[in-house]
Amino acid sequence: MQIVRSTRDLRQRLSALRNHSIGFVPTMGALHAGHARLIETSVRETASTVVSIFVNPSQFNDPADFAKYPRTLDTDAALCESFGASIVFAPSVEEIYPQPQQAFVDVARVTEHLEGKFRPGHFRGVATVVMKLFQIVQPDRAYFGEKDAQQLAVIRRMVEDLNVPVEIIGVPTVREPDGLAMSSRNQRLTPAERAIAPLLYQALQLAASRIAQGIRDPESIKQEAESLLTDPGIRVEYLEICDPDFMASVNHIDGPVRIAIAARLGSHESGSVRLIDNVLVTAPRP
Ligand code: AMP
Repeated sequence: MQIVRSTRDLRQRLSALRNHSIGFVPTMGALHAGHARLIETSVRETASTVVSIFVNPSQFNDPADFAKYPRTLDTDAALCESFGASIVFAPSVEEIYPQPQQAFVDVARVTEHLEGKFRPGHFRGVATVVMKLFQIVQPDRAYFGEKDAQQLAVIRRMVEDLNVPVEIIGVPTVREPDGLAMSSRNQRLTPAERAIAPLLYQALQLAASRIAQGIRDPESIKQEAESLLTDPGIRVEYLEICDPDFMASVNHIDGPVRIAIAARLGSHESGSVRLIDNVLVTAPRP
């Protein structure tokens, strides 16, 4: 496996691989079993897999969050190699943004809610860097986690609307044994915060079970789910029942819905860790 730092070097190496399919897994590093599942899936389905490791400053609305984001390139590269990746692309910020960026990708509507509301500018940063990485790697298939369901919806829409020749593959969320969705941010949780973090998934599961039982009113379901999240160490930013394409809250549940949550763990604003999770549920027919 090769570790490549520059776009020029990457393009040169990829030119020798283009007669077979190329899979691409974009990440911000601090890799865990969730990322490994994406890499594994790409390795199984394509001839060569490129994993990018790039902590993208333009998608962080909070500079402190960007500064604190874990950076563990050596262990990340070892994980990529052990799961069969062909190339790790780990560019510097200057390599990706050699001059102030003037062209951006803005995806409307699906970015209006949830993360888009709580993290202004986040999805513009994500869509723009993913488009740049697609242009650099030119993969046949690209793999994204359902853990970031709204991001996956944004990328799907960007690729459809802008005719980007890449197939987007969604990969189910990998969880810890107690249900907590794996995330690079989990390593910043204190033991006390880690102990209550599974409540987020428990609240999602409670909401999902009520939908499965035939309850159709989102408000009553949300209230019941939120009643699990009253610990003072948890500050819920949103818990919403949404349509899976546009991520807008629904007034009535009558088809597939995504239940999405974002919460801060830790009582101090500056020291808190922000976690997100979601589940897809299909309501039974009446
Ligand atoms: P990140 O490094 O957090 O930007 O994530 C890189 C990719 O890994 C994104 O497509 C994420 O959705 C995906 N991912 C992160 N955590 C998980 C997880 N627990 N299960 C599946 N995919 C994940």
